[in-house]
Amino acid sequence: MSTRRNVVIIGSGPAGLTAALYTARANLTPLVIEGIEAGGQLMLTTAVENFPGFTDGIMGPDLMGAMRAQAERFGAELIRANVTSVDLSQHPFVIRTDDAMFEARAVIVATGASAKLLGLPSERRLMGRGVSTCATCDGFFFRGKPIAVVGGGDSAVEEATFLTRFASHVTVIHRRDTLRASKIMQDKAFANPKISFQWDTEVLDVQDTGGGVSGLSLRNLKTGAESTLAVDGVFVAIGHTPNTALFKGQLEMDAAGYLVTRDGPRTNIPGVFACGDVQDHVYRQAITAAGSGCMAAIDVERYLEHLGH
Ligand code: NAP
Repeated sequence: MSTRRNVVIIGSGPAGLTAALYTARANLTPLVIEGIEAGGQLMLTTAVENFPGFTDGIMGPDLMGAMRAQAERFGAELIRANVTSVDLSQHPFVIRTDDAMFEARAVIVATGASAKLLGLPSERRLMGRGVSTCATCDGFFFRGKPIAVVGGGDSAVEEATFLTRFASHVTVIHRRDTLRASKIMQDKAFANPKISFQWDTEVLDVQDTGGGVSGLSLRNLKTGAESTLAVDGVFVAIGHTPNTALFKGQLEMDAAGYLVTRDGPRTNIPGVFACGDVQDHVYRQAITAAGSGCMAAIDVERYLEHLGH
């Protein structure tokens, strides 16, 4: 495998693999450094019903497997490794993994964002089986069922409001007695008869039916009282962390650590492009990530043509 590449793509979710497909079809033989958690957040979901083209839906890992195979079919090379450092101050750019070093004329950053989790073993085990981090993706599966949302920020309150379209009831579980969410979103949620709040409460465990969620074990942080809440699903909405630690001091970021892009996928360094959730904290959908991966690939093509490919 050559260590001098036209383009290195860091990350292998829908954004990275779509960028790989397009750059491969442009004969740029992209190298995708997949990361140890290859495939991104869709690997943590079960059925995906909102990715166009799949009438009956598709399992998240199957969708990622198909995207990977499609990119490989056109000559993309993929390696299962984590990038340990990047040097974007020189051109070609230098990208290091634990045991290799690559030089790249262009780089596409598609490292995504990770949903913050509560850190309970049951939460991981039931992810995609009643535990979710995406109301837009999974709300539909809870038609007529009671569910819970954990968190007190805009995401939690927005998701709770959205989920009342499907759920019979939504209980918001928040660790304090005041919400962090904006006043207007709070007022909307307080006025919604399908939403109730459990204040000063932490989730101790997600109860398992042997394949699904049956309830939550809760503890009141002020009184210490423990209780159970019967729900069929729980949405963890306690924020996301963009995977940008590698790029600190090199690529421009906003206060929350998301990469700043302009004119589509361009970062502050010519030749370095970013796509998907690493630069998008608003839409966060597989299809928008894939779309921005396509844009990054087309811009890489133009950039390399300009350099004299
Ligand atoms: P956030 O504002 O950081 O809120 C996270 C919430 O989760 C907080 O209420 C926090 O509690 C709670 N939390 C954090 N870690 C926890 C843990 N380990 N256990 C239990 N609870 C925990 O995150 P966000 O709601 O995802 O919002 C992120 C950004 O996107 C914000 O700037 C937000 O305004 C923006 N956003 C905007 C919109 C909109 O305008 N439509 C929609 C979504 C998000 P504490 O309050 O106690 O810290």
